[in-house]
Amino acid sequence: MRPVIIAANWKMHSTPSDAAALATTIAARTSVAGVERVICPPFVCLATVRDALAATPAGAGVGVGAQNIHHELTGAYTGEIGAPMLAGLASWVILGHSERRRDAGETDELIGRKLGRAVEVGLRPILCVGEQLAEREAGRAEAVVAGQLRGCLAAFGGDPAGLVHAGLVVAYEPVWAIGTGKTARGSDAAAMALAVRAAIAELGPAFAALAADVPVLYGGSVTAASAGEFLGEPAIDGALVGGASLKVEEMAGIVAQAGLTAQGRLAASGSGR
Ligand code: PEP
Repeated sequence: MRPVIIAANWKMHSTPSDAAALATTIAARTSVAGVERVICPPFVCLATVRDALAATPAGAGVGVGAQNIHHELTGAYTGEIGAPMLAGLASWVILGHSERRRDAGETDELIGRKLGRAVEVGLRPILCVGEQLAEREAGRAEAVVAGQLRGCLAAFGGDPAGLVHAGLVVAYEPVWAIGTGKTARGSDAAAMALAVRAAIAELGPAFAALAADVPVLYGGSVTAASAGEFLGEPAIDGALVGGASLKVEEMAGIVAQAGLTAQGRLAASGSGR
């Protein structure tokens, strides 16, 4: 049974002085059985959020993630953060977010190398993929996403078992839905989740376990009002939430929906279906 995961991407929002209160309030309002929660604040807030969550019973079960790492472990890269620096600060990392592909020129090749660094240090990667609007309108969405996965996994180059061990998560985030208030249709996102697993399976028998087990999240303007459309799809295992993840009530609603999905999965597995 695949886990149900809700990951919060705070992007370039919050400061060390307000992040603790936001994280602990969200943690307290989203304590729902069966849902893995992750908060990914800016680098400068990681320690604050880690400490604040660890200090409360509801927060202790919430994972902390970074929003990026460098593709080398260490070196002369001014202003960058290498994966080993996150030891003790974060246990997850978002990789290949479309805002980094757009603003930092990150390619699949570079993102695949970051994947390698994450696996090396034991960070759990959330690998983001997604098509542009013109690509969807041209009927190429699944081909684009499959190409991104192939490119990243080829550059990763390591043993696919390492990705299973690291607990790789893929986030399908159509670029046109991020921060725009537009969402994909639940059925399209579910079709993409299946396409993601098929694209990974096509890489060969060594990828079979990864293809079967990888959780696929949907991301793109998810709110409490829209979450049910995605979390009700059996192929979708949760959400990567941006703007709404800074709002306590939105997060409470989204995680409540995820709890229903988790309950449904548990009941289905218990009845042998
Ligand atoms: C994101 O940042 O990954 C994201 C999906 O943002 P938003 O929910 O704001 O569209």
